[in-house]
Amino acid sequence: MKYISTRGGIAPISFKDAVMMGLATDGGLLLPQVIPTLDDLTLARWRTLPYRDLAFEIISLFADDIPPEELKQLINRSYDRFTHPEITPLVAKDGVHILELFHGPTLAFKDVALQFLGNLFEYLLKERGEKMNIVGATSGDTGSAAIHGVRGKENISIFILHPHLKTSPVQALQMTTVTDDNVHNIAVTGTFDDCQNMVKGFFGDLEFKEKYSLGAVNSINWARVLAQVVYYFYASFRATGDPAEKVIFSVPTGNFGDIFAGYIAKRMGLNIDKLLLATNENNILTRFINDGDYSLGRVVSTVSPSMDIQVASNFERYLYYLFHENPDAVRRALESFGESGRMNFSLEQRRQVGELFLSRSVNQEETLKTIADFHNETGYLLDPHTAVGVRAAQDFTSRDIPLICLATAHPAKFDEAVVNATGVQPERPAVLDGIEGLPTRCELMENDPAAIRSFIQRHAI
Ligand SMILES: *Cc1c(COP(=O)(O)O)cnc(C)c1O
Repeated sequence: MKYISTRGGIAPISFKDAVMMGLATDGGLLLPQVIPTLDDLTLARWRTLPYRDLAFEIISLFADDIPPEELKQLINRSYDRFTHPEITPLVAKDGVHILELFHGPTLAFKDVALQFLGNLFEYLLKERGEKMNIVGATSGDTGSAAIHGVRGKENISIFILHPHLKTSPVQALQMTTVTDDNVHNIAVTGTFDDCQNMVKGFFGDLEFKEKYSLGAVNSINWARVLAQVVYYFYASFRATGDPAEKVIFSVPTGNFGDIFAGYIAKRMGLNIDKLLLATNENNILTRFINDGDYSLGRVVSTVSPSMDIQVASNFERYLYYLFHENPDAVRRALESFGESGRMNFSLEQRRQVGELFLSRSVNQEETLKTIADFHNETGYLLDPHTAVGVRAAQDFTSRDIPLICLATAHPAKFDEAVVNATGVQPERPAVLDGIEGLPTRCELMENDPAAIRSFIQRHAI
């Protein structure tokens, strides 16, 4: 299996090289040259597999340059720290299926991919005799999932910048209580954008990037998308009685990463009827799907902060397929977006989008009301991100087709919104036990790129 760039500027590379490259060197995103499609026999055989075995079957189709026994071990280890035996269990509530993706160490779905990516990096770096310094900015979820993915690993250090006192207290503690030598938390007196701009600056300085082998863990890495494809299959097998039955997935979306994994599953032959893309007030993707209007708005802060995003970094991967795998068309569309802040689509393209995708934007008032109503009716607490997906789905429910809502975070992670909506304090999972009393390690620094660069230089491996 070879990988190519959405912008057509690189010669095909292997899976291993694609993982290490992250962003394609021509500025595009990496995709498999061919998406494997599955026959009915294979799908029937996969229906009963436990999560880890299913993950191995799916991932090995795309990672054929890692010996099967080693890949199996990497995958098995990646899910050891999940606290539920099914890894991503499906629970039925009030006529919908909730796919709980929050049983990993940081209580958000990003663990499913980042636990795997951390192991994969360690394996590849060792094989190549290389080292990597991961540098990233976070508003909360990605940073903690990345830190827990690489803590204590060989040949990797990680530097995560977060805005001081601007993440939730639990999110900050999930990062700063990780005191392994290879983990460096930097609390910046500034905003998330300040952090992100500094990180962009470090990666833009090619000499610095090369000298310190800077690596990224944002959702543009193909291995992250790949690990997420697995739970679409897993959930659909458990929600349906026979292979002919279709399902609808509702996916709370920010960067288009998670829902793009569903799109890949569909192309592989999974029986997905519709993918419902749910957004909060940051609704550029909803406007795209419903009106063909992909135009930049301003980012507003909401109770579902991990979806407060306007430019979805994984969207380019979908455009590549919408434009019939034509990299020139992708480049032209991105250029036009760069110049005018909007992209235009033909009627035929809009029809094609509408064949698979549905979308709904859910505001904060509706989100909180959904948390309250759902709790009243079922006794089950939704986190605000999940509630966006559940509310969006209520407009599209069909008695005939099972509906699966992706639960992207545990309610205890965003307990302020949950308490506001219901007056009920969510039960805290054991991973948070005593977290307030644990030792922490974190560098408090000014919003000063030169000082932070020098900190990275001093602590890089
Ligand atoms: C990151 C995140 C999302 C959005 O996922 P994308 O892959 O960016 O679409 C939704 N919910 C939670 C809790 C998240 O952490």
